[in-house]
Amino acid sequence: MCGITGVYSSNNEASRLAYFGLFALQHRGQESAGIAVHDGQGIKTHKDLGLVSQVFNERDLVELKGNLAIGHNRYSTTGSNSKKNCQPFIKSSGERTIALVHNGNLTNALELRIELEKQGEEFESTSDSELIAALIIRSKKKELEDAVMEACNKIRGASSLVILAEGKVIAARDPNGIRPLSLGSIDGNYIFASETCGLDVLGARFICNVLPGQIVSVSKDGVKKYQFAKPNPTTCIFEFVYFSRPDSLINSVRVHEARREMGRWLARLFPVEADLVISIPSSGDSAAFGYAEESKIPLEKGLIKNYYVGRTFINPTQDMRQLGIRMKLNPLPEVIKRKRLIVIDDSIVRGNTSKKLVNVLWEAGAREVHMRISCPPIIWPCFYGVDTADREQLIASKFTIEQICAFLGADTLGYLPLEKLVSSVGLRKENLCCACFDGNYPIEIPEIIPTKHILESTTA
Ligand code: AMP
Repeated sequence: MCGITGVYSSNNEASRLAYFGLFALQHRGQESAGIAVHDGQGIKTHKDLGLVSQVFNERDLVELKGNLAIGHNRYSTTGSNSKKNCQPFIKSSGERTIALVHNGNLTNALELRIELEKQGEEFESTSDSELIAALIIRSKKKELEDAVMEACNKIRGASSLVILAEGKVIAARDPNGIRPLSLGSIDGNYIFASETCGLDVLGARFICNVLPGQIVSVSKDGVKKYQFAKPNPTTCIFEFVYFSRPDSLINSVRVHEARREMGRWLARLFPVEADLVISIPSSGDSAAFGYAEESKIPLEKGLIKNYYVGRTFINPTQDMRQLGIRMKLNPLPEVIKRKRLIVIDDSIVRGNTSKKLVNVLWEAGAREVHMRISCPPIIWPCFYGVDTADREQLIASKFTIEQICAFLGADTLGYLPLEKLVSSVGLRKENLCCACFDGNYPIEIPEIIPTKHILESTTA
């Protein structure tokens, strides 16, 4: 779950466009940020741990002059949050030097790493993304597009990529199109972004999605598209539930609209007499609109979010996580006191957040607390770039809905059934990866998961 961007510019300000693109994609990764530019001579990079606004200052952007740029925001919770794993990765071999950013997770990383090391490749990181860069530079293909396609055919799993080299910016998406990737343009500049909100901030016009199994190359010769593998689209449904920004179009679906419909279905399937609908901000906001609209129960603001508490803050330990939740969300007691509340959130993973928040609502004087979740129980781990925790940590893999409700301390609990989630998104079920809910993994998963054992995952 990372944010990636790429810029082919008609002037020397590509890094600035990449910077604003990354800024809009900050929600996809808050651990590190980086930009690489090409100025016609060579590639320059600036990357570090932290938010986009912490990693770059005006001087950095002035120094990153060039008409080609790529950028990355990283989010990893299973791999180490260290500087060596920050992207973009730069790799060279002979004539070829490339910079690469990756959103996704390879399922054959271990095999590839062993194979590449046998061939003498040395790695600076423990990230699976660096393997892709290594495959590209080691390719014997003369044209960069051919080398990228060759590498894309060797990797398995989820990978949305942007590569910069040889006067070109090339984007690629795995045949399943698990993670999103879009192309837009403004004033002769071409922009790739994980989500369309990364185009909107620049005033760029959406052109198209990079399609599953496709590469899109932008150079002085214009935009060229190549199909490197037969498409088998199964986009991650969790992008619609939680990851993506509501103002983004993912596979041409407006995320806010999909979430609003999820909320309407929750109201139809789990009606309850109540005084107010409140959301867990901001992940439950769009669905809460839908629930209130359908149920005609007023929508109120019951919890105030501190937007400066990043996701990383609620990461490392259980104690920190608990503190983080309270730091992030504070109740409005006058709104909550003596009220029967319908509380909308997008998902329950481990159950910590909801449990803590239900307790906060009781302490603030709520009379009833009815939890409504705009996705089904998460039972299976993700191997395609989402940190939904190991199976043992997923509360719904061990307990029934009644037990979870008791654990949370809520009066009632309703989860949106998968069928209604899919219909809210509006894409065909066979074109969505719903593995975290139904265990049907569209891409084979290896017996040994390298991300948990040998390689540290980028869960990029
Ligand atoms: P918990 O049940 O305490 O593990 O956390 C669930 C909350 O975290 C939900 O309210 C989601 O908004 C959010 N969430 C869902 N998936 C993820 C994820 N992969 N990484 C971080 N937060 C997530």
